[in-house]
Amino acid sequence: MTDTRIFLSPPDVSDVERKLLLAAFDSNWVAPVGPDLDAFETQVAELVGVRHAVALASGTAALHLALVAAGVRRGDTVLVPSFTFAATANAVMYLGARPVFLDSTPQSWNVDPDLVAQELRARAGTGRLPRAVIAVDMYGQCADYQPLLDACDRYGVPLIEDAAEALGASYRGKPAGSFGLAGVLSFNGNKIITTGGGGMLLTDDRRVATTARHLATQAREPVAHYEHRVVGYNYRLSNLLAAVGRGQVQRLAEMIAARRQTARYYHEALGDLPGLTFMPVAPYGSPNWWLTSLLVDARKFGADRDQLLARLARHNIEARPAWKPMHLQPVFQDCVMRGGEVSADLFRRGLCLPSGSALTERDRERVVTAVREG
Ligand SMILES: *Cc1c(COP(=O)(O)O)cnc(C)c1O
Repeated sequence: MTDTRIFLSPPDVSDVERKLLLAAFDSNWVAPVGPDLDAFETQVAELVGVRHAVALASGTAALHLALVAAGVRRGDTVLVPSFTFAATANAVMYLGARPVFLDSTPQSWNVDPDLVAQELRARAGTGRLPRAVIAVDMYGQCADYQPLLDACDRYGVPLIEDAAEALGASYRGKPAGSFGLAGVLSFNGNKIITTGGGGMLLTDDRRVATTARHLATQAREPVAHYEHRVVGYNYRLSNLLAAVGRGQVQRLAEMIAARRQTARYYHEALGDLPGLTFMPVAPYGSPNWWLTSLLVDARKFGADRDQLLARLARHNIEARPAWKPMHLQPVFQDCVMRGGEVSADLFRRGLCLPSGSALTERDRERVVTAVREG
């Protein structure tokens, strides 16, 4: 095996980020505060069109604080899509609350808005409304927010948008991260932009932003002598990492264009193969093409999903199965699940192809050749 490894979604950093990082270093703002942090927050808030942005150590931390701000407490219930990364449900568990998992719609692989509405109606009838609903923008495509927000508004339940994978996507022209009470971004190394680890909470609600900022800084009261009224967290993002983020945001449009081009290439070069179906693009929005994902019909394709993954691995290509739904995870085996066949099927047959924004023409060709080899 002589070809270099092709990764699923590696960081794509350039001289722009390098210069900003070194400038921050040289300025001695090597701290979790500083001008780069402020600039990064302002820049992302403007991009997403929200009033407040709070930079944090991870997307998971942002989810945790968004749930706190939504009032989630021990014993509460939170509706969560089953088809997501564990962080979405973990954040609920941190607070001693319980996720109730909901299945996806095959139209976008995101949470099925009808299931959300049904569950809210049923729970309203018995006086057990959830404290919050989380929607996830899967693989960079927004959930269907109009019916989701209608249902949440009807019962007065706050919606939180897990847009960890979706910066730069939009729903009916409105940017991902701007829906509901608070939106959450991740800047983990594999996401659409990275700070090497980081996240952000986005909101139009000043109280939510203030709460998040306060709790992220050990809940220190604004007095000199270290006064604390509640338990806080150390969830801040470093100013150095924010400098990297500033550069990444400058390059976001070009990075999305590169991922879109890769998606187009895969669609054109593989679309004729029987038994392969790409993740549908819902008509209501535009994705950021974070990961190009598809389903394998083993009988028509002549190989199942795992055989295709193994074939790619033999070519030194990293591809991944689609998320294993939360209701099938041992850690959440005691949680309630509504529906389940769609997300279970996405997991059984789904995989994500290399989609990084620095992928070369030659890399794409290698992926296509490997997939077509059967
Ligand atoms: C990556 C991711 C997160 C967590 O973000 P971190 O920054 O890694 O903590 C949360 N939800 C989803 C859907 C993700 O993909």
